[in-house]
Amino acid sequence: MKYPKIYDVIVIGGGHAGTEAALAAARMGQQTLLLTHNIETLGQMSCNPAIGGIGKSHLVREVDALGGAMALATDKAGIQFRVLNSRKGAAVRATRAQADRILYKAAIRHTLENQPNLDIFQQAADDILVETGKAVAVVTQSGIEFACGAVVLTSGTFLGGTIHIGLENHKGGRAGDPPSIRLADRLRELKLPVGRLKTGTPPRIDARTVDFSVMTVQPGDTPLPVMSYLGDVSMHPRQINCYITHTNERTHDIIRSGLDRSPMYSGVIEGIGPRYCPSIEDKIHRFADKDSHQIFIEPEGLTTHELYPNGISTSLPFDIQLALVRSMKGLENAHILRPGYAIEYDYFDPQNLKPSLETKSIDNLFFAGQINGTTGYEEAAAQGILAGLNAARRTQGLDAWTPRRDQAYIGVLVDDLITHGTKEPYRMFTSRAEYRLLLREDNADQRLTEIGRDLGLVDDARWQVYSDKMTAIEQETARLRSLWATPTNTLGQSFIDKTGEVLTKENNALDLLKRPNVSFDDISELTESPVSAEVGEQIEIGVKYAGYIDRQQVEIGQMKKLEHTLIPDDFTYHDISGLSNEIVQKLEKVRPTTLAQASRISGVTPAAVQLLAMMIKKSK
Ligand code: FAD
Repeated sequence: MKYPKIYDVIVIGGGHAGTEAALAAARMGQQTLLLTHNIETLGQMSCNPAIGGIGKSHLVREVDALGGAMALATDKAGIQFRVLNSRKGAAVRATRAQADRILYKAAIRHTLENQPNLDIFQQAADDILVETGKAVAVVTQSGIEFACGAVVLTSGTFLGGTIHIGLENHKGGRAGDPPSIRLADRLRELKLPVGRLKTGTPPRIDARTVDFSVMTVQPGDTPLPVMSYLGDVSMHPRQINCYITHTNERTHDIIRSGLDRSPMYSGVIEGIGPRYCPSIEDKIHRFADKDSHQIFIEPEGLTTHELYPNGISTSLPFDIQLALVRSMKGLENAHILRPGYAIEYDYFDPQNLKPSLETKSIDNLFFAGQINGTTGYEEAAAQGILAGLNAARRTQGLDAWTPRRDQAYIGVLVDDLITHGTKEPYRMFTSRAEYRLLLREDNADQRLTEIGRDLGLVDDARWQVYSDKMTAIEQETARLRSLWATPTNTLGQSFIDKTGEVLTKENNALDLLKRPNVSFDDISELTESPVSAEVGEQIEIGVKYAGYIDRQQVEIGQMKKLEHTLIPDDFTYHDISGLSNEIVQKLEKVRPTTLAQASRISGVTPAAVQLLAMMIKKSK
């Protein structure tokens, strides 16, 4: 049956990429359909119920700055909030929230169900119809054909998914959910470059069988952080503690005793797993000299006894899982509610994607999330919003938009994926960005909200909050610049009394703030500042890091020349004498869109970039 309504954009998959993609396309006014296996699992967290952390919170804030749902859902569902690296520089500070799994899903579903221009339909997508090289429709399991202008595929770990527990394995998209086999077969027929990856999750534990009194308590931070620029602590539900226990020599012996029945070590699993989130069997193998690992015991929610033991992801057989859990302090009598497992799934080489996340081989087909070789909810959401907005722009006849590496971690993520591809699940770190001082989690709104407004992603309410904040920053900066302190006047005297700092000449209040030991709170107290702590933080960071930020701006200015040199789509590298075969092959494979992207391909030398620059100029 052909469905009577024709959609502009169809998004397949209601996970973290799919929900942001569907919301973005609909916010931009395009008629959008979110087609997913099961409405009950919209926004489901497949693994640990936590959002944010180092590098990841930067992505969440960027999605938020562009009007996305993840940060606000976290504020409504977060049961423990912490700021990581709080004593380090602003560039690497990161907010992390433990979320109530049920509240998080409910918040995402509520946002989706109340989004104008967005329909939701529950059923598996089995086929994507392609006509004259373009995606034109999606066919469901029961044969319903939905015609559309563009498709965004965000099927996560479901394509050809195989779940492993010990040497037992079965087909599945994640525990309790069906895999996508027909769609996986169909994508192979379409000759998209497919590979296999794997990821894993720990067994879950019943809190009623745990002795918390022998564990270290880990409370959340005070004052309570928020995730969204529109967030407020009053949105947070009740806050609770996490706990810490450790593995020990006995735990490690138990794990070693089960390795012959491990699907990873016996060669049953071929896919490569996440290096930075290894299974416990991988950890004791790779860090053989360590006799203990820290394990965080994290509650899954306010209305459940289920606990997530962060750090013991495993695919060992169940008897070994039970013994290893019970070998740890406080878990001697633990009951396992759900066994841990590993999952192997299809992903597609992201070098086959354009910066817009459209596939190079099929027009109007966009990929986002885990199927592009990434891991993590935040990485998925970041790609989702980008793919959704670009699918919408495609159906509006507009050019694609992708942030540059100096504008957003989203830009870093996409550029890394399409330029280098990935052989293992890719996760974000602050160390992946070369302009870290500019790409902070605290200033994502200043980097992206105005652009988001122009793109049609940011609604009036968010725009108002942002505009008010920017006005407050401007006015307060001007006020501080006009307040003068001398060694003898009142402001100068109170400054010396409060801080013990020496004043030898006249300074304005902004100059005082430049001093390393002086905070905005100090200045605020002395000058009776009318602004919020958030505005004060922006002024303080701007003043204290001004020199470094200016230096990064100079570097960016130099790089921009290369970013602005576009390489024509039909540019041929073979004809350029002076380029080695190896470089030609690499350029042909990636087909960079700008000279800057070409310069980031490993093995493409500065001399080759210069030669390319000349040839591009000549070809114009
Ligand atoms: P998903 O969240 O998986 O969502 C995919 C959605 O697509 C689902 O709603 C599914 O029902 C739907 N779908 C799939 N196929 C079809 C179809 N044919 N038709 C209709 N709907 C379809 N991340 C970490 O950061 N750290 C970890 O330790 C970690 N461990 C993990 C362990 C396991 C076992 C799993 C499964 C995932 C783990 N992840 C981990 C990854 C994290 O869950 C994903 O990165 C994230 O959920 C990816 O988001 P996504 O939107 O791409 O896909």
